[in-house]
Amino acid sequence: MSAHADELMDYDQAVSLFEPVIGLETHVELGTNSKMFCSCPTEFGAEANTQICPVCVGLPGSMPVVNAVAVESTIRMGLALNCDIASWCRFARKNYFYPDMPKDYQISQYDEPLCTDGYLDVIVPTDDGPQVFRIEIERVHMEEDTGKLTHSGGDTGRIHGADYSLVDYNRAGIPLIEIVTKPIPGTGALAPVVARAYVAELRNLMRSLGVSDVRMEEGSLRCDVNVSLAKPGEPWGTRSETKNVNSLRSVERAVHSEIERQSALLTSGGRVVQETRHFHEDTGRSTSGRSKEQAEDYRYFPEPDLVPVAPSLEWIEQLRASLPEAPAAKRARLQESWGITDFEMQTLVNTDALDVIEETVAAGVEQSAARKWWMGEFARSAKEQGIELSQLRVRPADIVRVETLIREGALTDKMARQVFEGVLAGEGDVDSVIAQRGLVVVSDDASLLAAIDEALAAQPDVAEKIASGKVQAAGAIVGAVMKATQGQADAAKVRALLLEKLGVSE
Ligand code: ADP
Ligand code: MG
Ligand code: ZN
Repeated sequence: MSAHADELMDYDQAVSLFEPVIGLETHVELGTNSKMFCSCPTEFGAEANTQICPVCVGLPGSMPVVNAVAVESTIRMGLALNCDIASWCRFARKNYFYPDMPKDYQISQYDEPLCTDGYLDVIVPTDDGPQVFRIEIERVHMEEDTGKLTHSGGDTGRIHGADYSLVDYNRAGIPLIEIVTKPIPGTGALAPVVARAYVAELRNLMRSLGVSDVRMEEGSLRCDVNVSLAKPGEPWGTRSETKNVNSLRSVERAVHSEIERQSALLTSGGRVVQETRHFHEDTGRSTSGRSKEQAEDYRYFPEPDLVPVAPSLEWIEQLRASLPEAPAAKRARLQESWGITDFEMQTLVNTDALDVIEETVAAGVEQSAARKWWMGEFARSAKEQGIELSQLRVRPADIVRVETLIREGALTDKMARQVFEGVLAGEGDVDSVIAQRGLVVVSDDASLLAAIDEALAAQPDVAEKIASGKVQAAGAIVGAVMKATQGQADAAKVRALLLEKLGVSE
């Protein structure tokens, strides 16, 4: 293993010389309440080793029981990915030793996966308009997650150079599904973008099915990114496998940098070795991990402590019939009904705003207002806090309330922003923020006229202009009144009163 930095070839040159083939293995934590083979809770963030029992830490004599909801979720995911569902399949033991694996074997599926041979269409924008790629799915299977190791004392957080390591088994036994694509040829220079779009669409699909909340920042979706290069017309090359890539952006960058690395290697007479690699978020590059030239022998065998999974045809058909609308179909429908462009729709999707906006519209808010709030103030706030839109304190019902108050003249636009600022900061719901902050539209004539008089007195030259018929100068006075009332005056009314007072008309 060489320690020096890998040579990279310019990306455009690389894809003009070589054709990439990519393959993605995606692990997703299912959103079940309990673990895959025991009844321990699955909540994220609990104190270490408080969510464990004899089954998930592999004590002798303990017996696993399959989580039915996990099986159901896997079948629904398989159906949504157009897979065949096995009428009979078994779990297998994958034997290996690692401290994050309490049993010294992982219960997984090997040669009998629950779902096989599906596909998922993804759309990527290109210079010639949107292009569809059909990603073929090899298999979808169930397995259990491992525990989590924390390496302390080194400066990299990796095991090398660490003084000691801690292990938390709370995650051990959480249900995972693994979705493996067939090799994907034919994407050319778009390979990184296609890889990203595929993972994004998988995530959309899982969210729409409700089988996982797919929070990538909590590690509930992780990808192994396989890349190989070949000269046009030649057989596929040797792949490398970049492990545990855990954001959409990193998936794209991992493919990109691997194409640059392998092409430099191949053109300088080297060869790509089959190995795992580690991706580094800070540099956008990967370093060599463990060689896979000799296939590891996991001594797989059918798990003797579990009965086979044999979903009835009737159950499968029932699940198929109850699948929700596919994300792509939903996007097309909403885009049409809201009358927005491809670009606007893409922006909503990229910001992860589509679902909350749809919910807000369904709650009765006009679509343009719903888009304005979620894509403006709220998106900014979520970004600042590093959370997703759906995690913000503001709910669609709050927007319904604020929009109603604006329509009734009880809130100005500016005040609405202040209300949401309060709601986002946790000051309470819309009405309590309004009450606490004393946000009342000033619309009684006496107070408005008093403020107008003051503004006119402060700017006599403007007053004269308006009086002489230059109505457009009224804006300065209205602005001054708004400022004096901290945005709480009804601007239209101020304008009307002002013009009436000075005896001019629009
Ligand atoms: P492993 O467990 O060794 O990673 P898997 O079969 O689970 O093997 O996954 C291999 C992944 O690599 C699949 O997504 C597959 O499509 C992909 N793949 C196989 N051959 C190539 C290749 N030549 N180039 C790129 N990807 C490949
Ligand atoms: Mg793999
Ligand atoms: Zn347990």
